[in-house]
Amino acid sequence: MVGGGLAGSRTVEELRAAGYTGQLTLVGAEPHLPYDRPPLSKAVLAGLTDDTTLPPSYDDLDVELLLSRRAVGLGEGVLETDRGQLDFDALVVATGAVPVRLPGGGGRTLRTVEDARALRAALRLGVRVVVVGAGWIGAEVATAAARAGCRVTVVEAGRAPLGTALGEQVGAATAGWYDEAGVQLLLGTGVAAVEPDAVVLASGKSLPADCVVIGIGVRPDVAWLGSAVRIERGVAVDEHLRSSLPKVYAVGDAAAWHSRRFGRRLSVEHWDNALHAPTAAAANVLGGGAVHDPVPYFWSEQFGRTVQYAGHSGGADTFLWRGDPGGAQWTACWLRNGVLEAVATVDRPRDLLQGRRAIAAEVPFDLERLADPAVPIRTAVR
Ligand code: FAD
Repeated sequence: MVGGGLAGSRTVEELRAAGYTGQLTLVGAEPHLPYDRPPLSKAVLAGLTDDTTLPPSYDDLDVELLLSRRAVGLGEGVLETDRGQLDFDALVVATGAVPVRLPGGGGRTLRTVEDARALRAALRLGVRVVVVGAGWIGAEVATAAARAGCRVTVVEAGRAPLGTALGEQVGAATAGWYDEAGVQLLLGTGVAAVEPDAVVLASGKSLPADCVVIGIGVRPDVAWLGSAVRIERGVAVDEHLRSSLPKVYAVGDAAAWHSRRFGRRLSVEHWDNALHAPTAAAANVLGGGAVHDPVPYFWSEQFGRTVQYAGHSGGADTFLWRGDPGGAQWTACWLRNGVLEAVATVDRPRDLLQGRRAIAAEVPFDLERLADPAVPIRTAVR
């Protein structure tokens, strides 16, 4: 296993659970035992916890842990690391993703536990915080910064928050949350550079800042592979999570797998995918033919609300709301030929659960009933 995050950790667990008794080695660039990242922008920033180490005991699993060790290249049956070569019969790439940065060299990103602790220390009463990007991470950081009493501005190039993930129409329904929390939201505002004490906008105007957080997305951490395997954003793998190189698999944020369900390659940088893909990868490393074909799922906690998303709305031809998007709770539904493709919910966990099941079952809906928030999603099928 290369990469000591959730996906790498889950892969060793799943290999042992599937009965594999041979040698297992996990190579991780960070000095820590594998840990969970979602709490970094939530409970860790809020000061509720400092340790998000994942549960498995690697001693009990009989795994050789090579931490603070970075993979730098791959050949047939050989992994090159910054401290020598390792031979393998099978290799699983789980090197995750790294945040995208901006010109100017200033600003911080939030990916590691060190990033989270340092940011938490910087979020003090009255500090001027500029967050670049109103995506998932930007919204969660703005929430924590506003709660800490900072003066917060969020700069977003698109016309709505969460526009990339949910589309402008749905993202726009979250814009009021910023105002309510006392956060200034600048939409349609490009950033040219981030300097140590200011964010320079595309217009040439400068926003002075004591703390700048860049949250404009991630890219899979796969450059170390060079041209050893086919890359299509992440490591291009088939529905069995097999790469173009025999005996090499990829899981989690680093992988771009072929989705049978959606008929396209998906690159999903979300926790649930890193949790479940290892089940199929482990089975296939051991000679199985398991297919990884999930309904992608994501959640976020922002401005006192839980936002959840399931599915993939890329091919939708119909959109409808369940509930008032100006109200406290609502659900957005994307359909194709009357079949649910994706749902986004705000504080409606039942809709998420039932919607996700319906997406998996590919059942057609009665649109009028689906649009009625008083009708449970599962009973709105045709
Ligand atoms: P990672 O967790 O990135 O782990 C990869 C590991 O590989 C890292 O430790 C890295 O150092 C190591 N590595 C990289 N290159 C090498 C190399 N060459 N050699 C050796 N090791 C290497 N998802 C949700 O669904 N909901 C959320 O609310 C949510 N919140 C998040 C909040 C934050 C702050 C962050 C950063 C992510 C959040 N995510 C969330 C995303 C989720 O955490 C990721 O999808 C998940 O961590 C992916 O796991 P992974 O194991 O594939 O990659």
